Amino acid sequence: MKRREFIQISALGATALAGLGLNKLTFADEPPEFAAISGSGQEVEARIDTKTGQVQLNPNIIMRHSACLGCYSSCGNRVKIDKRTGKILRVFGNPYNPHNAGPALSYNAPLTESYLAFSTFQGRGHKGRATLCARGNATLDANYDPYRNLVPLKRTGKRGEGKWKPITWEQAIQETAEGGELFKDLGEKAVEGFHQIYDVKTPMDSAQPELGPKSNQLVLIGGRGDGRTAYAVRFMGAFGSVNNFSHGYS
Ligand code: SF4
Repeated sequence: MKRREFIQISALGATALAGLGLNKLTFADEPPEFAAISGSGQEVEARIDTKTGQVQLNPNIIMRHSACLGCYSSCGNRVKIDKRTGKILRVFGNPYNPHNAGPALSYNAPLTESYLAFSTFQGRGHKGRATLCARGNATLDANYDPYRNLVPLKRTGKRGEGKWKPITWEQAIQETAEGGELFKDLGEKAVEGFHQIYDVKTPMDSAQPELGPKSNQLVLIGGRGDGRTAYAVRFMGAFGSVNNFSHGYS
């Protein structure tokens, strides 16, 4: 009966977790008080005394508040990480973010409140429990996608052939900055690097001055604005190129 006095908050959404193939995740050194209840398949991040609101944290689990990049909405998410393996076990909604919690917690609310927000203590979980959409839940899978690019890729075939090889970041930076005969083995001419085109005075083409200086030869065709845009704007501005294009606007 004592066990029923606590809310095992990870049990919420256990069905979605089972869909991600993590329903059998258990650990030998799992503290018994945080053990998964039958059917949830995963140890809980905390236990909550529903009478007093006392939060008992699982020392094996760390929770991080972040943002979901499953789509352009950039909802807040809350990531459950196993400290022993560094693996993400689940993602939830972020109770501090008005995108997916209503009412959202104040930014000044202590982290213990974020645990209570998922519990039945004083009915909080029923009032504004933060959630993610189904796609947001699936971002966990995308994180461990075996086809996810984690290192720079260099083209090894003609453009459009889809042939690539992984290279180091050092090589990628060196070749991007210095240019040279980077695709000599493919019979292609030398490529200019940043150093050759960093020039805000010399016209790119004196016959077409409207194209601006050589620095405009650097063109950035970016992706979505999920934090990288500010960096790109600053870098391209410092480089002297106006040709900075983002995914949904110019
Ligand atoms: S939770 Fe859903 S709607 Fe929100 S950013 Fe992620 S994928 Fe988009």
